[in-house]
Amino acid sequence: MAFAGKVILITGASSGIGAATAKHFAGLGATLALAGRNLENLKKVASDCSTKSIPLLLTGELTNEKDTKAILDKTIEHFGKLDVLVNNAGIIETGGIENTSLEQFDRMMNTNVRSLYHLSLLAVPHLVKTKGNIVNVSSVNGMRAFPGVLAYCMSKTAVDHFTRCAALDLAPKQVRVNCVNPGVTVTNLHKRGGMNEEQYEVFLKKCKDTHALGRPGKPEEVAKTIAFLASDDASFITGATMPVDGGRHAMCPR
Ligand code: NDP
Repeated sequence: MAFAGKVILITGASSGIGAATAKHFAGLGATLALAGRNLENLKKVASDCSTKSIPLLLTGELTNEKDTKAILDKTIEHFGKLDVLVNNAGIIETGGIENTSLEQFDRMMNTNVRSLYHLSLLAVPHLVKTKGNIVNVSSVNGMRAFPGVLAYCMSKTAVDHFTRCAALDLAPKQVRVNCVNPGVTVTNLHKRGGMNEEQYEVFLKKCKDTHALGRPGKPEEVAKTIAFLASDDASFITGATMPVDGGRHAMCPR
């Protein structure tokens, strides 16, 4: 997997899976455009990236169309091309059918789906030129149903189907589109989504039973799968939804 000379734009690069992905791609020689909202965190991630070229840091709110367009435009202005788009930014909130709201649905769909849709369609003309590819970060919640996270699950299923449909649209142009479907991965996601320290600790302990491999995942494990899908080693893979979840997607209660 060599990414020398390849320009990779990663959203949500300021934290968790996106930050780990940035560092991993840096180690593989990629040129990086890192997007996030928190500039301080983006700077910290960039300082951990051992790249020859300095990562381009792009702050913006992805639910804001102007910001999303600026992220793409600045990447192209700065590097002149785009080889890989990693649509990673996302949020989670809890709420089942009896205690969700339209506002929650809108927040979840706007962040996890609409912004990904928007950034992808802006990126595609550039990816066609480079015969590049897209890797989306979905979730095991896209593949399987869980109670109490209705809008999040729906948003991730939309990401999975977006991946398949866009893969077929772009296959004639040799642009691949894939996604990873992580299981519980230790990041800031769940605490930002409302869990307190104690609840998060219990949630992680439960991974012993909820994940066949008996533990939660590490962001680096997801990062390595993203890099594989983005690489020429995955040259015949498109439209794939790849679990990185310690076997959780294959489990059934008994
Ligand atoms: P983190 O909360 O650690 O990171 C989320 C990232 O997304 C941050 O960089 C954040 O930016 C960015 N982000 C969120 N909302 C916006 C927005 N509106 N505009 C711009 N940037 C935004 O979570 P993870 O690393 O865990 O999440 C990454 C992806 O992985 C998500 O799509 C999530 O659904 C998915 N995932 C995570 C799992 C887990 O257990 N952690 C399991 C399955 C999937 P900033 O911090 O700068 O605000």
